Amino acid sequence: MAKAIIIRAPGGPEAMVLEEFDPGQPGPGQTLIRHEAVGVNFIDVYHRTGLYPLPLPFTPGSEGAGEVLAVGPGVTNVKVGDRVAYGTSRGAYASERVIDAGTLVKLPDAISYETAAAMMLKGLTAQYLLRQTFPIKAGDTILVHAAAGGVGLILCQWGRALGATVIGTVGSQDKAKLASEAGAHHVIRYREENVAERVKAITGGKMCDVVYDGVGKDTFIASLDSLRPLGMMVSFGNASGPVDAFNVGVLAQKGSLFLTRPTLFTYASTPEKLAAMSKDLMDAMASGAVKIAVNARYPLADAAQAHRDLEARKTTGASVLIP
Ligand code: NDP
Repeated sequence: MAKAIIIRAPGGPEAMVLEEFDPGQPGPGQTLIRHEAVGVNFIDVYHRTGLYPLPLPFTPGSEGAGEVLAVGPGVTNVKVGDRVAYGTSRGAYASERVIDAGTLVKLPDAISYETAAAMMLKGLTAQYLLRQTFPIKAGDTILVHAAAGGVGLILCQWGRALGATVIGTVGSQDKAKLASEAGAHHVIRYREENVAERVKAITGGKMCDVVYDGVGKDTFIASLDSLRPLGMMVSFGNASGPVDAFNVGVLAQKGSLFLTRPTLFTYASTPEKLAAMSKDLMDAMASGAVKIAVNARYPLADAAQAHRDLEARKTTGASVLIP
């Protein structure tokens, strides 16, 4: 019998309960897959707590990798036995699941299931942030918050490979070391240091061209203050809580700034876009520019502990669940 984490009411980590379930058979355009690894992401916490409300009950998780067990009518992009991965389809915290074939990407043999389960949501997010939302060019200066996190470590590596000067912020000394090793030219300890002042000193007053801010509430204003005139503020997450409502006139006062609040689900909204983004990511990995760090593994049954560690800022890089 297959197993899945089920959430029947929003709440703390204990709201996630492992239950036996029947994944069913794939319908038209769908496949049944067996997960070998499942990615843990901060969006799973937002779903669990109800910050991003979902119809109940539901199975959390949007990222996974495994083998195709069966295909429904009309599926042409994958076949039984293929190694596949995805990062935009909820229901991942399960040993098996039915999933739309259009959300799947075939995996080259060189990419392990664990790596794939850590790269599809986080790596594709880095892809659109660096290559589409604000396309990085050599000589740009970028600020990356939570630089030792899942998305953060990828942004540091890829940003540097694209020729940017990377300034990372981190919550501890250990994380500072990781961010530096991943490619951050400068690291700011944002719990102790004034971010905008440090950015000013590092850049000789020029400030940053873009800020990639997945921390949200605690960093929002410091991020705006770290930008040059006409700079781009990319607010893509809320690890510290959602950003407070603010007066858009602030963007004028701080230098005619641009602000966007993007999501992967928009950028990877069609199979064609998903395929192009995945190719770009896999090319970056194949060239050695980007390495995916899977730094914690938990049994699927311990999903609650994975969430506790993520929320307590104890994790670095990516965490995966093993069914
Ligand atoms: P991370 O591995 O980056 O974990 C979150 C990190 O945020 C922590 O390790 C911590 O690093 C930092 N942080 C700062 N303040 C807090 C706080 N109060 N509580 C918890 N953590 C805090 O997570 P992910 O890589 O999964 O995601 C990073 C961000 O990107 C999230 O906000 C996520 O929602 C967002 N995201 C957005 C996407 C989109 O398309 N919009 C897609 C994917 C992710 P430190 O200790 O160094 O401060």
